[in-house]
Amino acid sequence: MKVLKFGGTSVGSAQSISTVIDILKKEDLSKGAPVVVLSAMSGVTNLLTHMANAAATGQDFTAHLAELETRHFGVVKELLDVQAQNPVFTRLKLYFNQLEDLLQGVLTLRELTPKTLDLIVSFGERCATLLVSRIAMQYFPACLFVDATEVVKTDSAHGQAKVNMELTGLLINDLYRANSDKILFVTGYIASNDAGNVSTLGRGGSDYTAAIFGSVLNASAIEIWTDVNGMMTADPRMVKKAFSLPELSYTEAMELSYFGAKVIYPPTMIPAFLKRIPIVIKNTFNVDFEGTVIRHDPGKSKLAIKGISSVNKISIINLVGSGMVGKAGFSGRLFSLLAREQINVILITQSSSEHSITFAVQPEDAEKAKLLIEQEFELELLAKKLEYPVIEAELSVLAIVGENMKQTPGMSGKLFHALGRNGVNVRAIAQGSSEYNISVIISVVDLAKALNAVHDAFFSQLNKTLHAFCLGTGNIGKTLFKQLDQHKDYLEKNNGIQVKVAGISNTRKMMFDVDGVDLKDWEDKLQASDEPADLAAFVAKMKSLNLPNCVFIDNTASPKPIEFYEEIFKSNISVVTCNKIGNSGSYQRYKTFRDTARAHGVDFFYETNVGAGLPIIHTLKNLMGSGDRLQKIEAILSGTISYIFNNFKGDANFHNVVKTAQDLGYTEPDPRDDLRGTDFMRKVLILARDAGFEMEAEDVQIDNILPQACLDAASVDDFYAALQSENVYFEDLKNRAESEGKVLRYIGKLDNGKASISLQMVDSEHPFYTMSGSDNIIAFNTDRYSARPMVVKGPGAGAEVTAAGVFADLINVGAN
Ligand code: ADP
Ligand code: ASP
Ligand code: MG
Repeated sequence: MKVLKFGGTSVGSAQSISTVIDILKKEDLSKGAPVVVLSAMSGVTNLLTHMANAAATGQDFTAHLAELETRHFGVVKELLDVQAQNPVFTRLKLYFNQLEDLLQGVLTLRELTPKTLDLIVSFGERCATLLVSRIAMQYFPACLFVDATEVVKTDSAHGQAKVNMELTGLLINDLYRANSDKILFVTGYIASNDAGNVSTLGRGGSDYTAAIFGSVLNASAIEIWTDVNGMMTADPRMVKKAFSLPELSYTEAMELSYFGAKVIYPPTMIPAFLKRIPIVIKNTFNVDFEGTVIRHDPGKSKLAIKGISSVNKISIINLVGSGMVGKAGFSGRLFSLLAREQINVILITQSSSEHSITFAVQPEDAEKAKLLIEQEFELELLAKKLEYPVIEAELSVLAIVGENMKQTPGMSGKLFHALGRNGVNVRAIAQGSSEYNISVIISVVDLAKALNAVHDAFFSQLNKTLHAFCLGTGNIGKTLFKQLDQHKDYLEKNNGIQVKVAGISNTRKMMFDVDGVDLKDWEDKLQASDEPADLAAFVAKMKSLNLPNCVFIDNTASPKPIEFYEEIFKSNISVVTCNKIGNSGSYQRYKTFRDTARAHGVDFFYETNVGAGLPIIHTLKNLMGSGDRLQKIEAILSGTISYIFNNFKGDANFHNVVKTAQDLGYTEPDPRDDLRGTDFMRKVLILARDAGFEMEAEDVQIDNILPQACLDAASVDDFYAALQSENVYFEDLKNRAESEGKVLRYIGKLDNGKASISLQMVDSEHPFYTMSGSDNIIAFNTDRYSARPMVVKGPGAGAEVTAAGVFADLINVGAN
């Protein structure tokens, strides 16, 4: 025979109760009638507790009572034949009258004892079980409603009573033997003490009732029917990528549930473990799901860990003092004290010096624990052998669990790397000696981020999710969104990376969506957003959302975002940018960015600062990183100037070539910005700094291409006029070059720690002789590439290639 337990949501509505009946109909009754354990309808235990507390403080509870009645009566009307309804209404009404009397008593006395509360909440299970058993009678002739207070016997620790297994075993056996042909419908969670007073087994305790019946009756399996696909790698409400586990050992299930995996109540595992009865967690709302099997000998799993769970809110108490050093009895005294007072200690860590002990408790127990300690250790406190206990609140426990962790090195490294990278501060650490679990205490506000980041780190076979916050919706920003959208599926399939654009801002509007903005209609959405752009607010929101694997993308050419980079790194957020201003400002700032990013374990990628998508920065870093030594760099890094000199030949006139370049959109609105070499200078400066030179902008020597008259022009029109009148100067340059069989090239150079940009004439032997369009080219001379340089060449401007470079940087974030 089997025991089936249905939780609150499974009996939460007429519709789900029908599903439960359908599940029961599929049971093979020839193997012995099953025992069906039921919880209260979802939310009812909470509501009853709330009503009891309300009554104790003099508040009215009648509206809630009416709500309870309506909910239960509604199910009767919907699922019971009319002639069967009345007796059930009568029974239910009896329960509600008793409940009302009790609550009235609490209201009158303004007192609510744990004993009374147990009695009050017991009506939740009683009503639900009565209902379901009567509905089942329409389909199964032999059904019996069992009030578990008659068979499950406990001590008097109300709220969390301990079961007397021996006596309970006898009673259940008697009951079962007398009714072996019937399906028993048993109230979960509730029991009674020796005196016959109702007790409860702790919140979530219906699972435990099921395990007790399963163990006593030697069931072939204990099925826990709930509202999710079994035990998952994390709470699916917190971690969207959590997935179902096919198998677990009792210990693993115990550890996961102890640290918060509510799907099964931890003590449930003990009776099942002792008799090696498998527990199968199934989904009422997805009957095809095979279930998670918790068993004695689960097969070998490839997963490094089985899951991550968390206890949302805890407080810790720190005890510090010399009085603890070497005192064998100290912890004994401390923890017996807490046990005696029913204070549940969730986790303990002790420093190896024994100078301090930290332990975690439920927040509501913290003050009491502190007081108890102060009483118990009064002498030690007075003698200053112990300092007064300190409570820290608003904390959570995150635990990774799995038997494979045992003796596998690197597990804690991985955990702390994921936490550190995401800026999650670890307050305390505990590793059980079983090595089945490593727990860390972190701030409540970091919990969701930490769970997701750790999940990504340990289940790397799953996609990693990057959360991008993008600034700038000009050509590059737009193109990046288009590319991200186009390559979404490919990226997930081949790189295991999912990019969610969680925030977008331009200079007018901003918007956020933690689930990722739909990149097909981001423009309309941004347009419709009612949040005006505000850079500081954008950064603040990005920080406060606290998402894992977060990246700030600066696709602007503005100096404003740069002001926030340092703060962003300090928040453990990586930066990807095509904006050159940050890296070409003062050397001090350039250095601060790198130091801060490194200190916080995040990335700062800016490949597109030089040569758009061409792998230039990357190549330089790889050369240097592999121990090669740089001798010289020569480069043409301005697409605009490149275009101009590639076309300034034969009959061409310089003025016209510049004009055409402008008409084609190759220049800045004011072409002097290009021809002055400022943009080129910035690139050379960044390269020089990345090559290890402490250099400022003034250190880059720039030779003017233009005669002074052109530079002095008051407007763009004057500038063109000046180009025309200086025509002789340009013609002379061109003719000189042509007569020597050379071409004109504006070349940046880094040689011997000196950076310069100058107009040069190169012959056909030079790698820069043949160039076309707006190509960029860079030649690296190094110790290894000394005879012939390593050359990178290709289109070095344009939205497509620049966005592609930003894209490549983005997906590399967190790769190392
Ligand atoms: P029931 O009412 O059926 O007893 P519970 O609400 O007690 O159901 O437990 C099921 C819930 O447990 C799920 O809805 C899920 O949100 C939560 N949960 C927490 N951690 C996990 C986990 N690791 N795997 C599955 N569910 C989990
Ligand atoms: N109804 C009880 C609770 O909500 C017991 C259970 O659901 O398992 O805690
Ligand atoms: Mg439960």
